[in-house]
Amino acid sequence: MKYLITILLISVMSLSLSAQDQYIYCGSLIDVESGKLLKKKTIIVKNDRIHKIENGFVEAPKQARVIDLKNSFVLPGFFDMHVHLESETSPDNYIKPFTYNEADVAYEAQKHAKTTLMAGFTSVRDLGGSGVNTSLRDAIKKGLVMGPTIYSAGKSIATTGGHADPTNGYKADLMGHPGPDQGVINGTAEAREAVRQRYKNGADVIKITATGGVLSVAKSSQNPQFFEDELRAIVETANDYGMITAAHAHGDEGMQRAVKAGIKTIEHGTLMSEETMELMKEHDAYLVPTITAGKSVAEMAEIEGYYPELVVPKAKAIGPQIQGTFEKAYKKGVNILFGTDAGVFKHGLNAKEFGYMVEVGMPAMEAIQSATIVPAKLLKVDADYGSIEEGKMADLIAVKTHPLETISTLENVTFVMKHGKVVKP
Ligand SMILES: [Zn+2]
Repeated sequence: MKYLITILLISVMSLSLSAQDQYIYCGSLIDVESGKLLKKKTIIVKNDRIHKIENGFVEAPKQARVIDLKNSFVLPGFFDMHVHLESETSPDNYIKPFTYNEADVAYEAQKHAKTTLMAGFTSVRDLGGSGVNTSLRDAIKKGLVMGPTIYSAGKSIATTGGHADPTNGYKADLMGHPGPDQGVINGTAEAREAVRQRYKNGADVIKITATGGVLSVAKSSQNPQFFEDELRAIVETANDYGMITAAHAHGDEGMQRAVKAGIKTIEHGTLMSEETMELMKEHDAYLVPTITAGKSVAEMAEIEGYYPELVVPKAKAIGPQIQGTFEKAYKKGVNILFGTDAGVFKHGLNAKEFGYMVEVGMPAMEAIQSATIVPAKLLKVDADYGSIEEGKMADLIAVKTHPLETISTLENVTFVMKHGKVVKP
């Protein structure tokens, strides 16, 4: 009996050890719900959640772990609503489909996921890869690898020869005839099939390429690439399965068709007209600017041989325009969601986007909200994510200087906690 009690005691003790409470002393804390900066708070984390938020620095019990962020600014972990974790820009990217096995993609993706998390992005929406992105999501969830919480689109959907047709630019006998499974559709029946296939594959969101794009080996960066009935078929099917829809779009006509069909987020939005901005507001759609990607591709297009010949003029023409469109759309009152297209530039530099947004007139607090509470609400995960509140998951980051005064400090995140676990430092 005595022996049993001892065993019981030991197991109770080790249980309480594994669930050690954490007392985080925050010098300043950004409350994205009220849009205010709060001073001197103690966040008490139990297991993976925020248990309590107390005023001042309350004394921690002996067995608790104390995390001293008295000289830091604490924020909720960021969302990047547009990343591609499977790849990263490099001049040999166009050869990789022929030289990389799925496992090679997976190992690289794992590295990009960790880099993203270390930059303070505890959640991302992966808008297109091969399907490895969905497996990566699950591996992270299981704790096998480090990375942000992923909302995965699996493979993007395009039409034949469209921006996300995986065999663009191949020689004829390698092109084959990709279909809905590979993300290429023509007509409404295939549109529905492609969405249902993604649901079956475990995708969380649906991504389409509504117009031409910059990095695909194809002539136009802006032609509309879906008919309205195809777009409607995609949106209606996705809505039936509770999946949010995102459309890559540079050209105005394709963008307008997408918004009218009910697509929820427009990615890039480069050549958006004022009329489309009004439509976006009417339809409660969101613009995901990806200014960082635009600037990066324009820069890299200057490097001889970095991109295929067909890509260079598109990158130079489209890239530099994104920031200006973002400015106009923001000032017109279009909903903005933070998203960068990381992968098109180096992972981990996601927070540069904040600077670009603030530079053309968005207040720093609003930029931060567009990367925290706004995406959490859109993804319907705000009960658990998006702000520092009692009961929510403990996804917290910190920086050393005042982010509302010096936005670039968000590029130097010094502390990251995901689901109650300190992953940085
Ligand atoms: Zn993208």
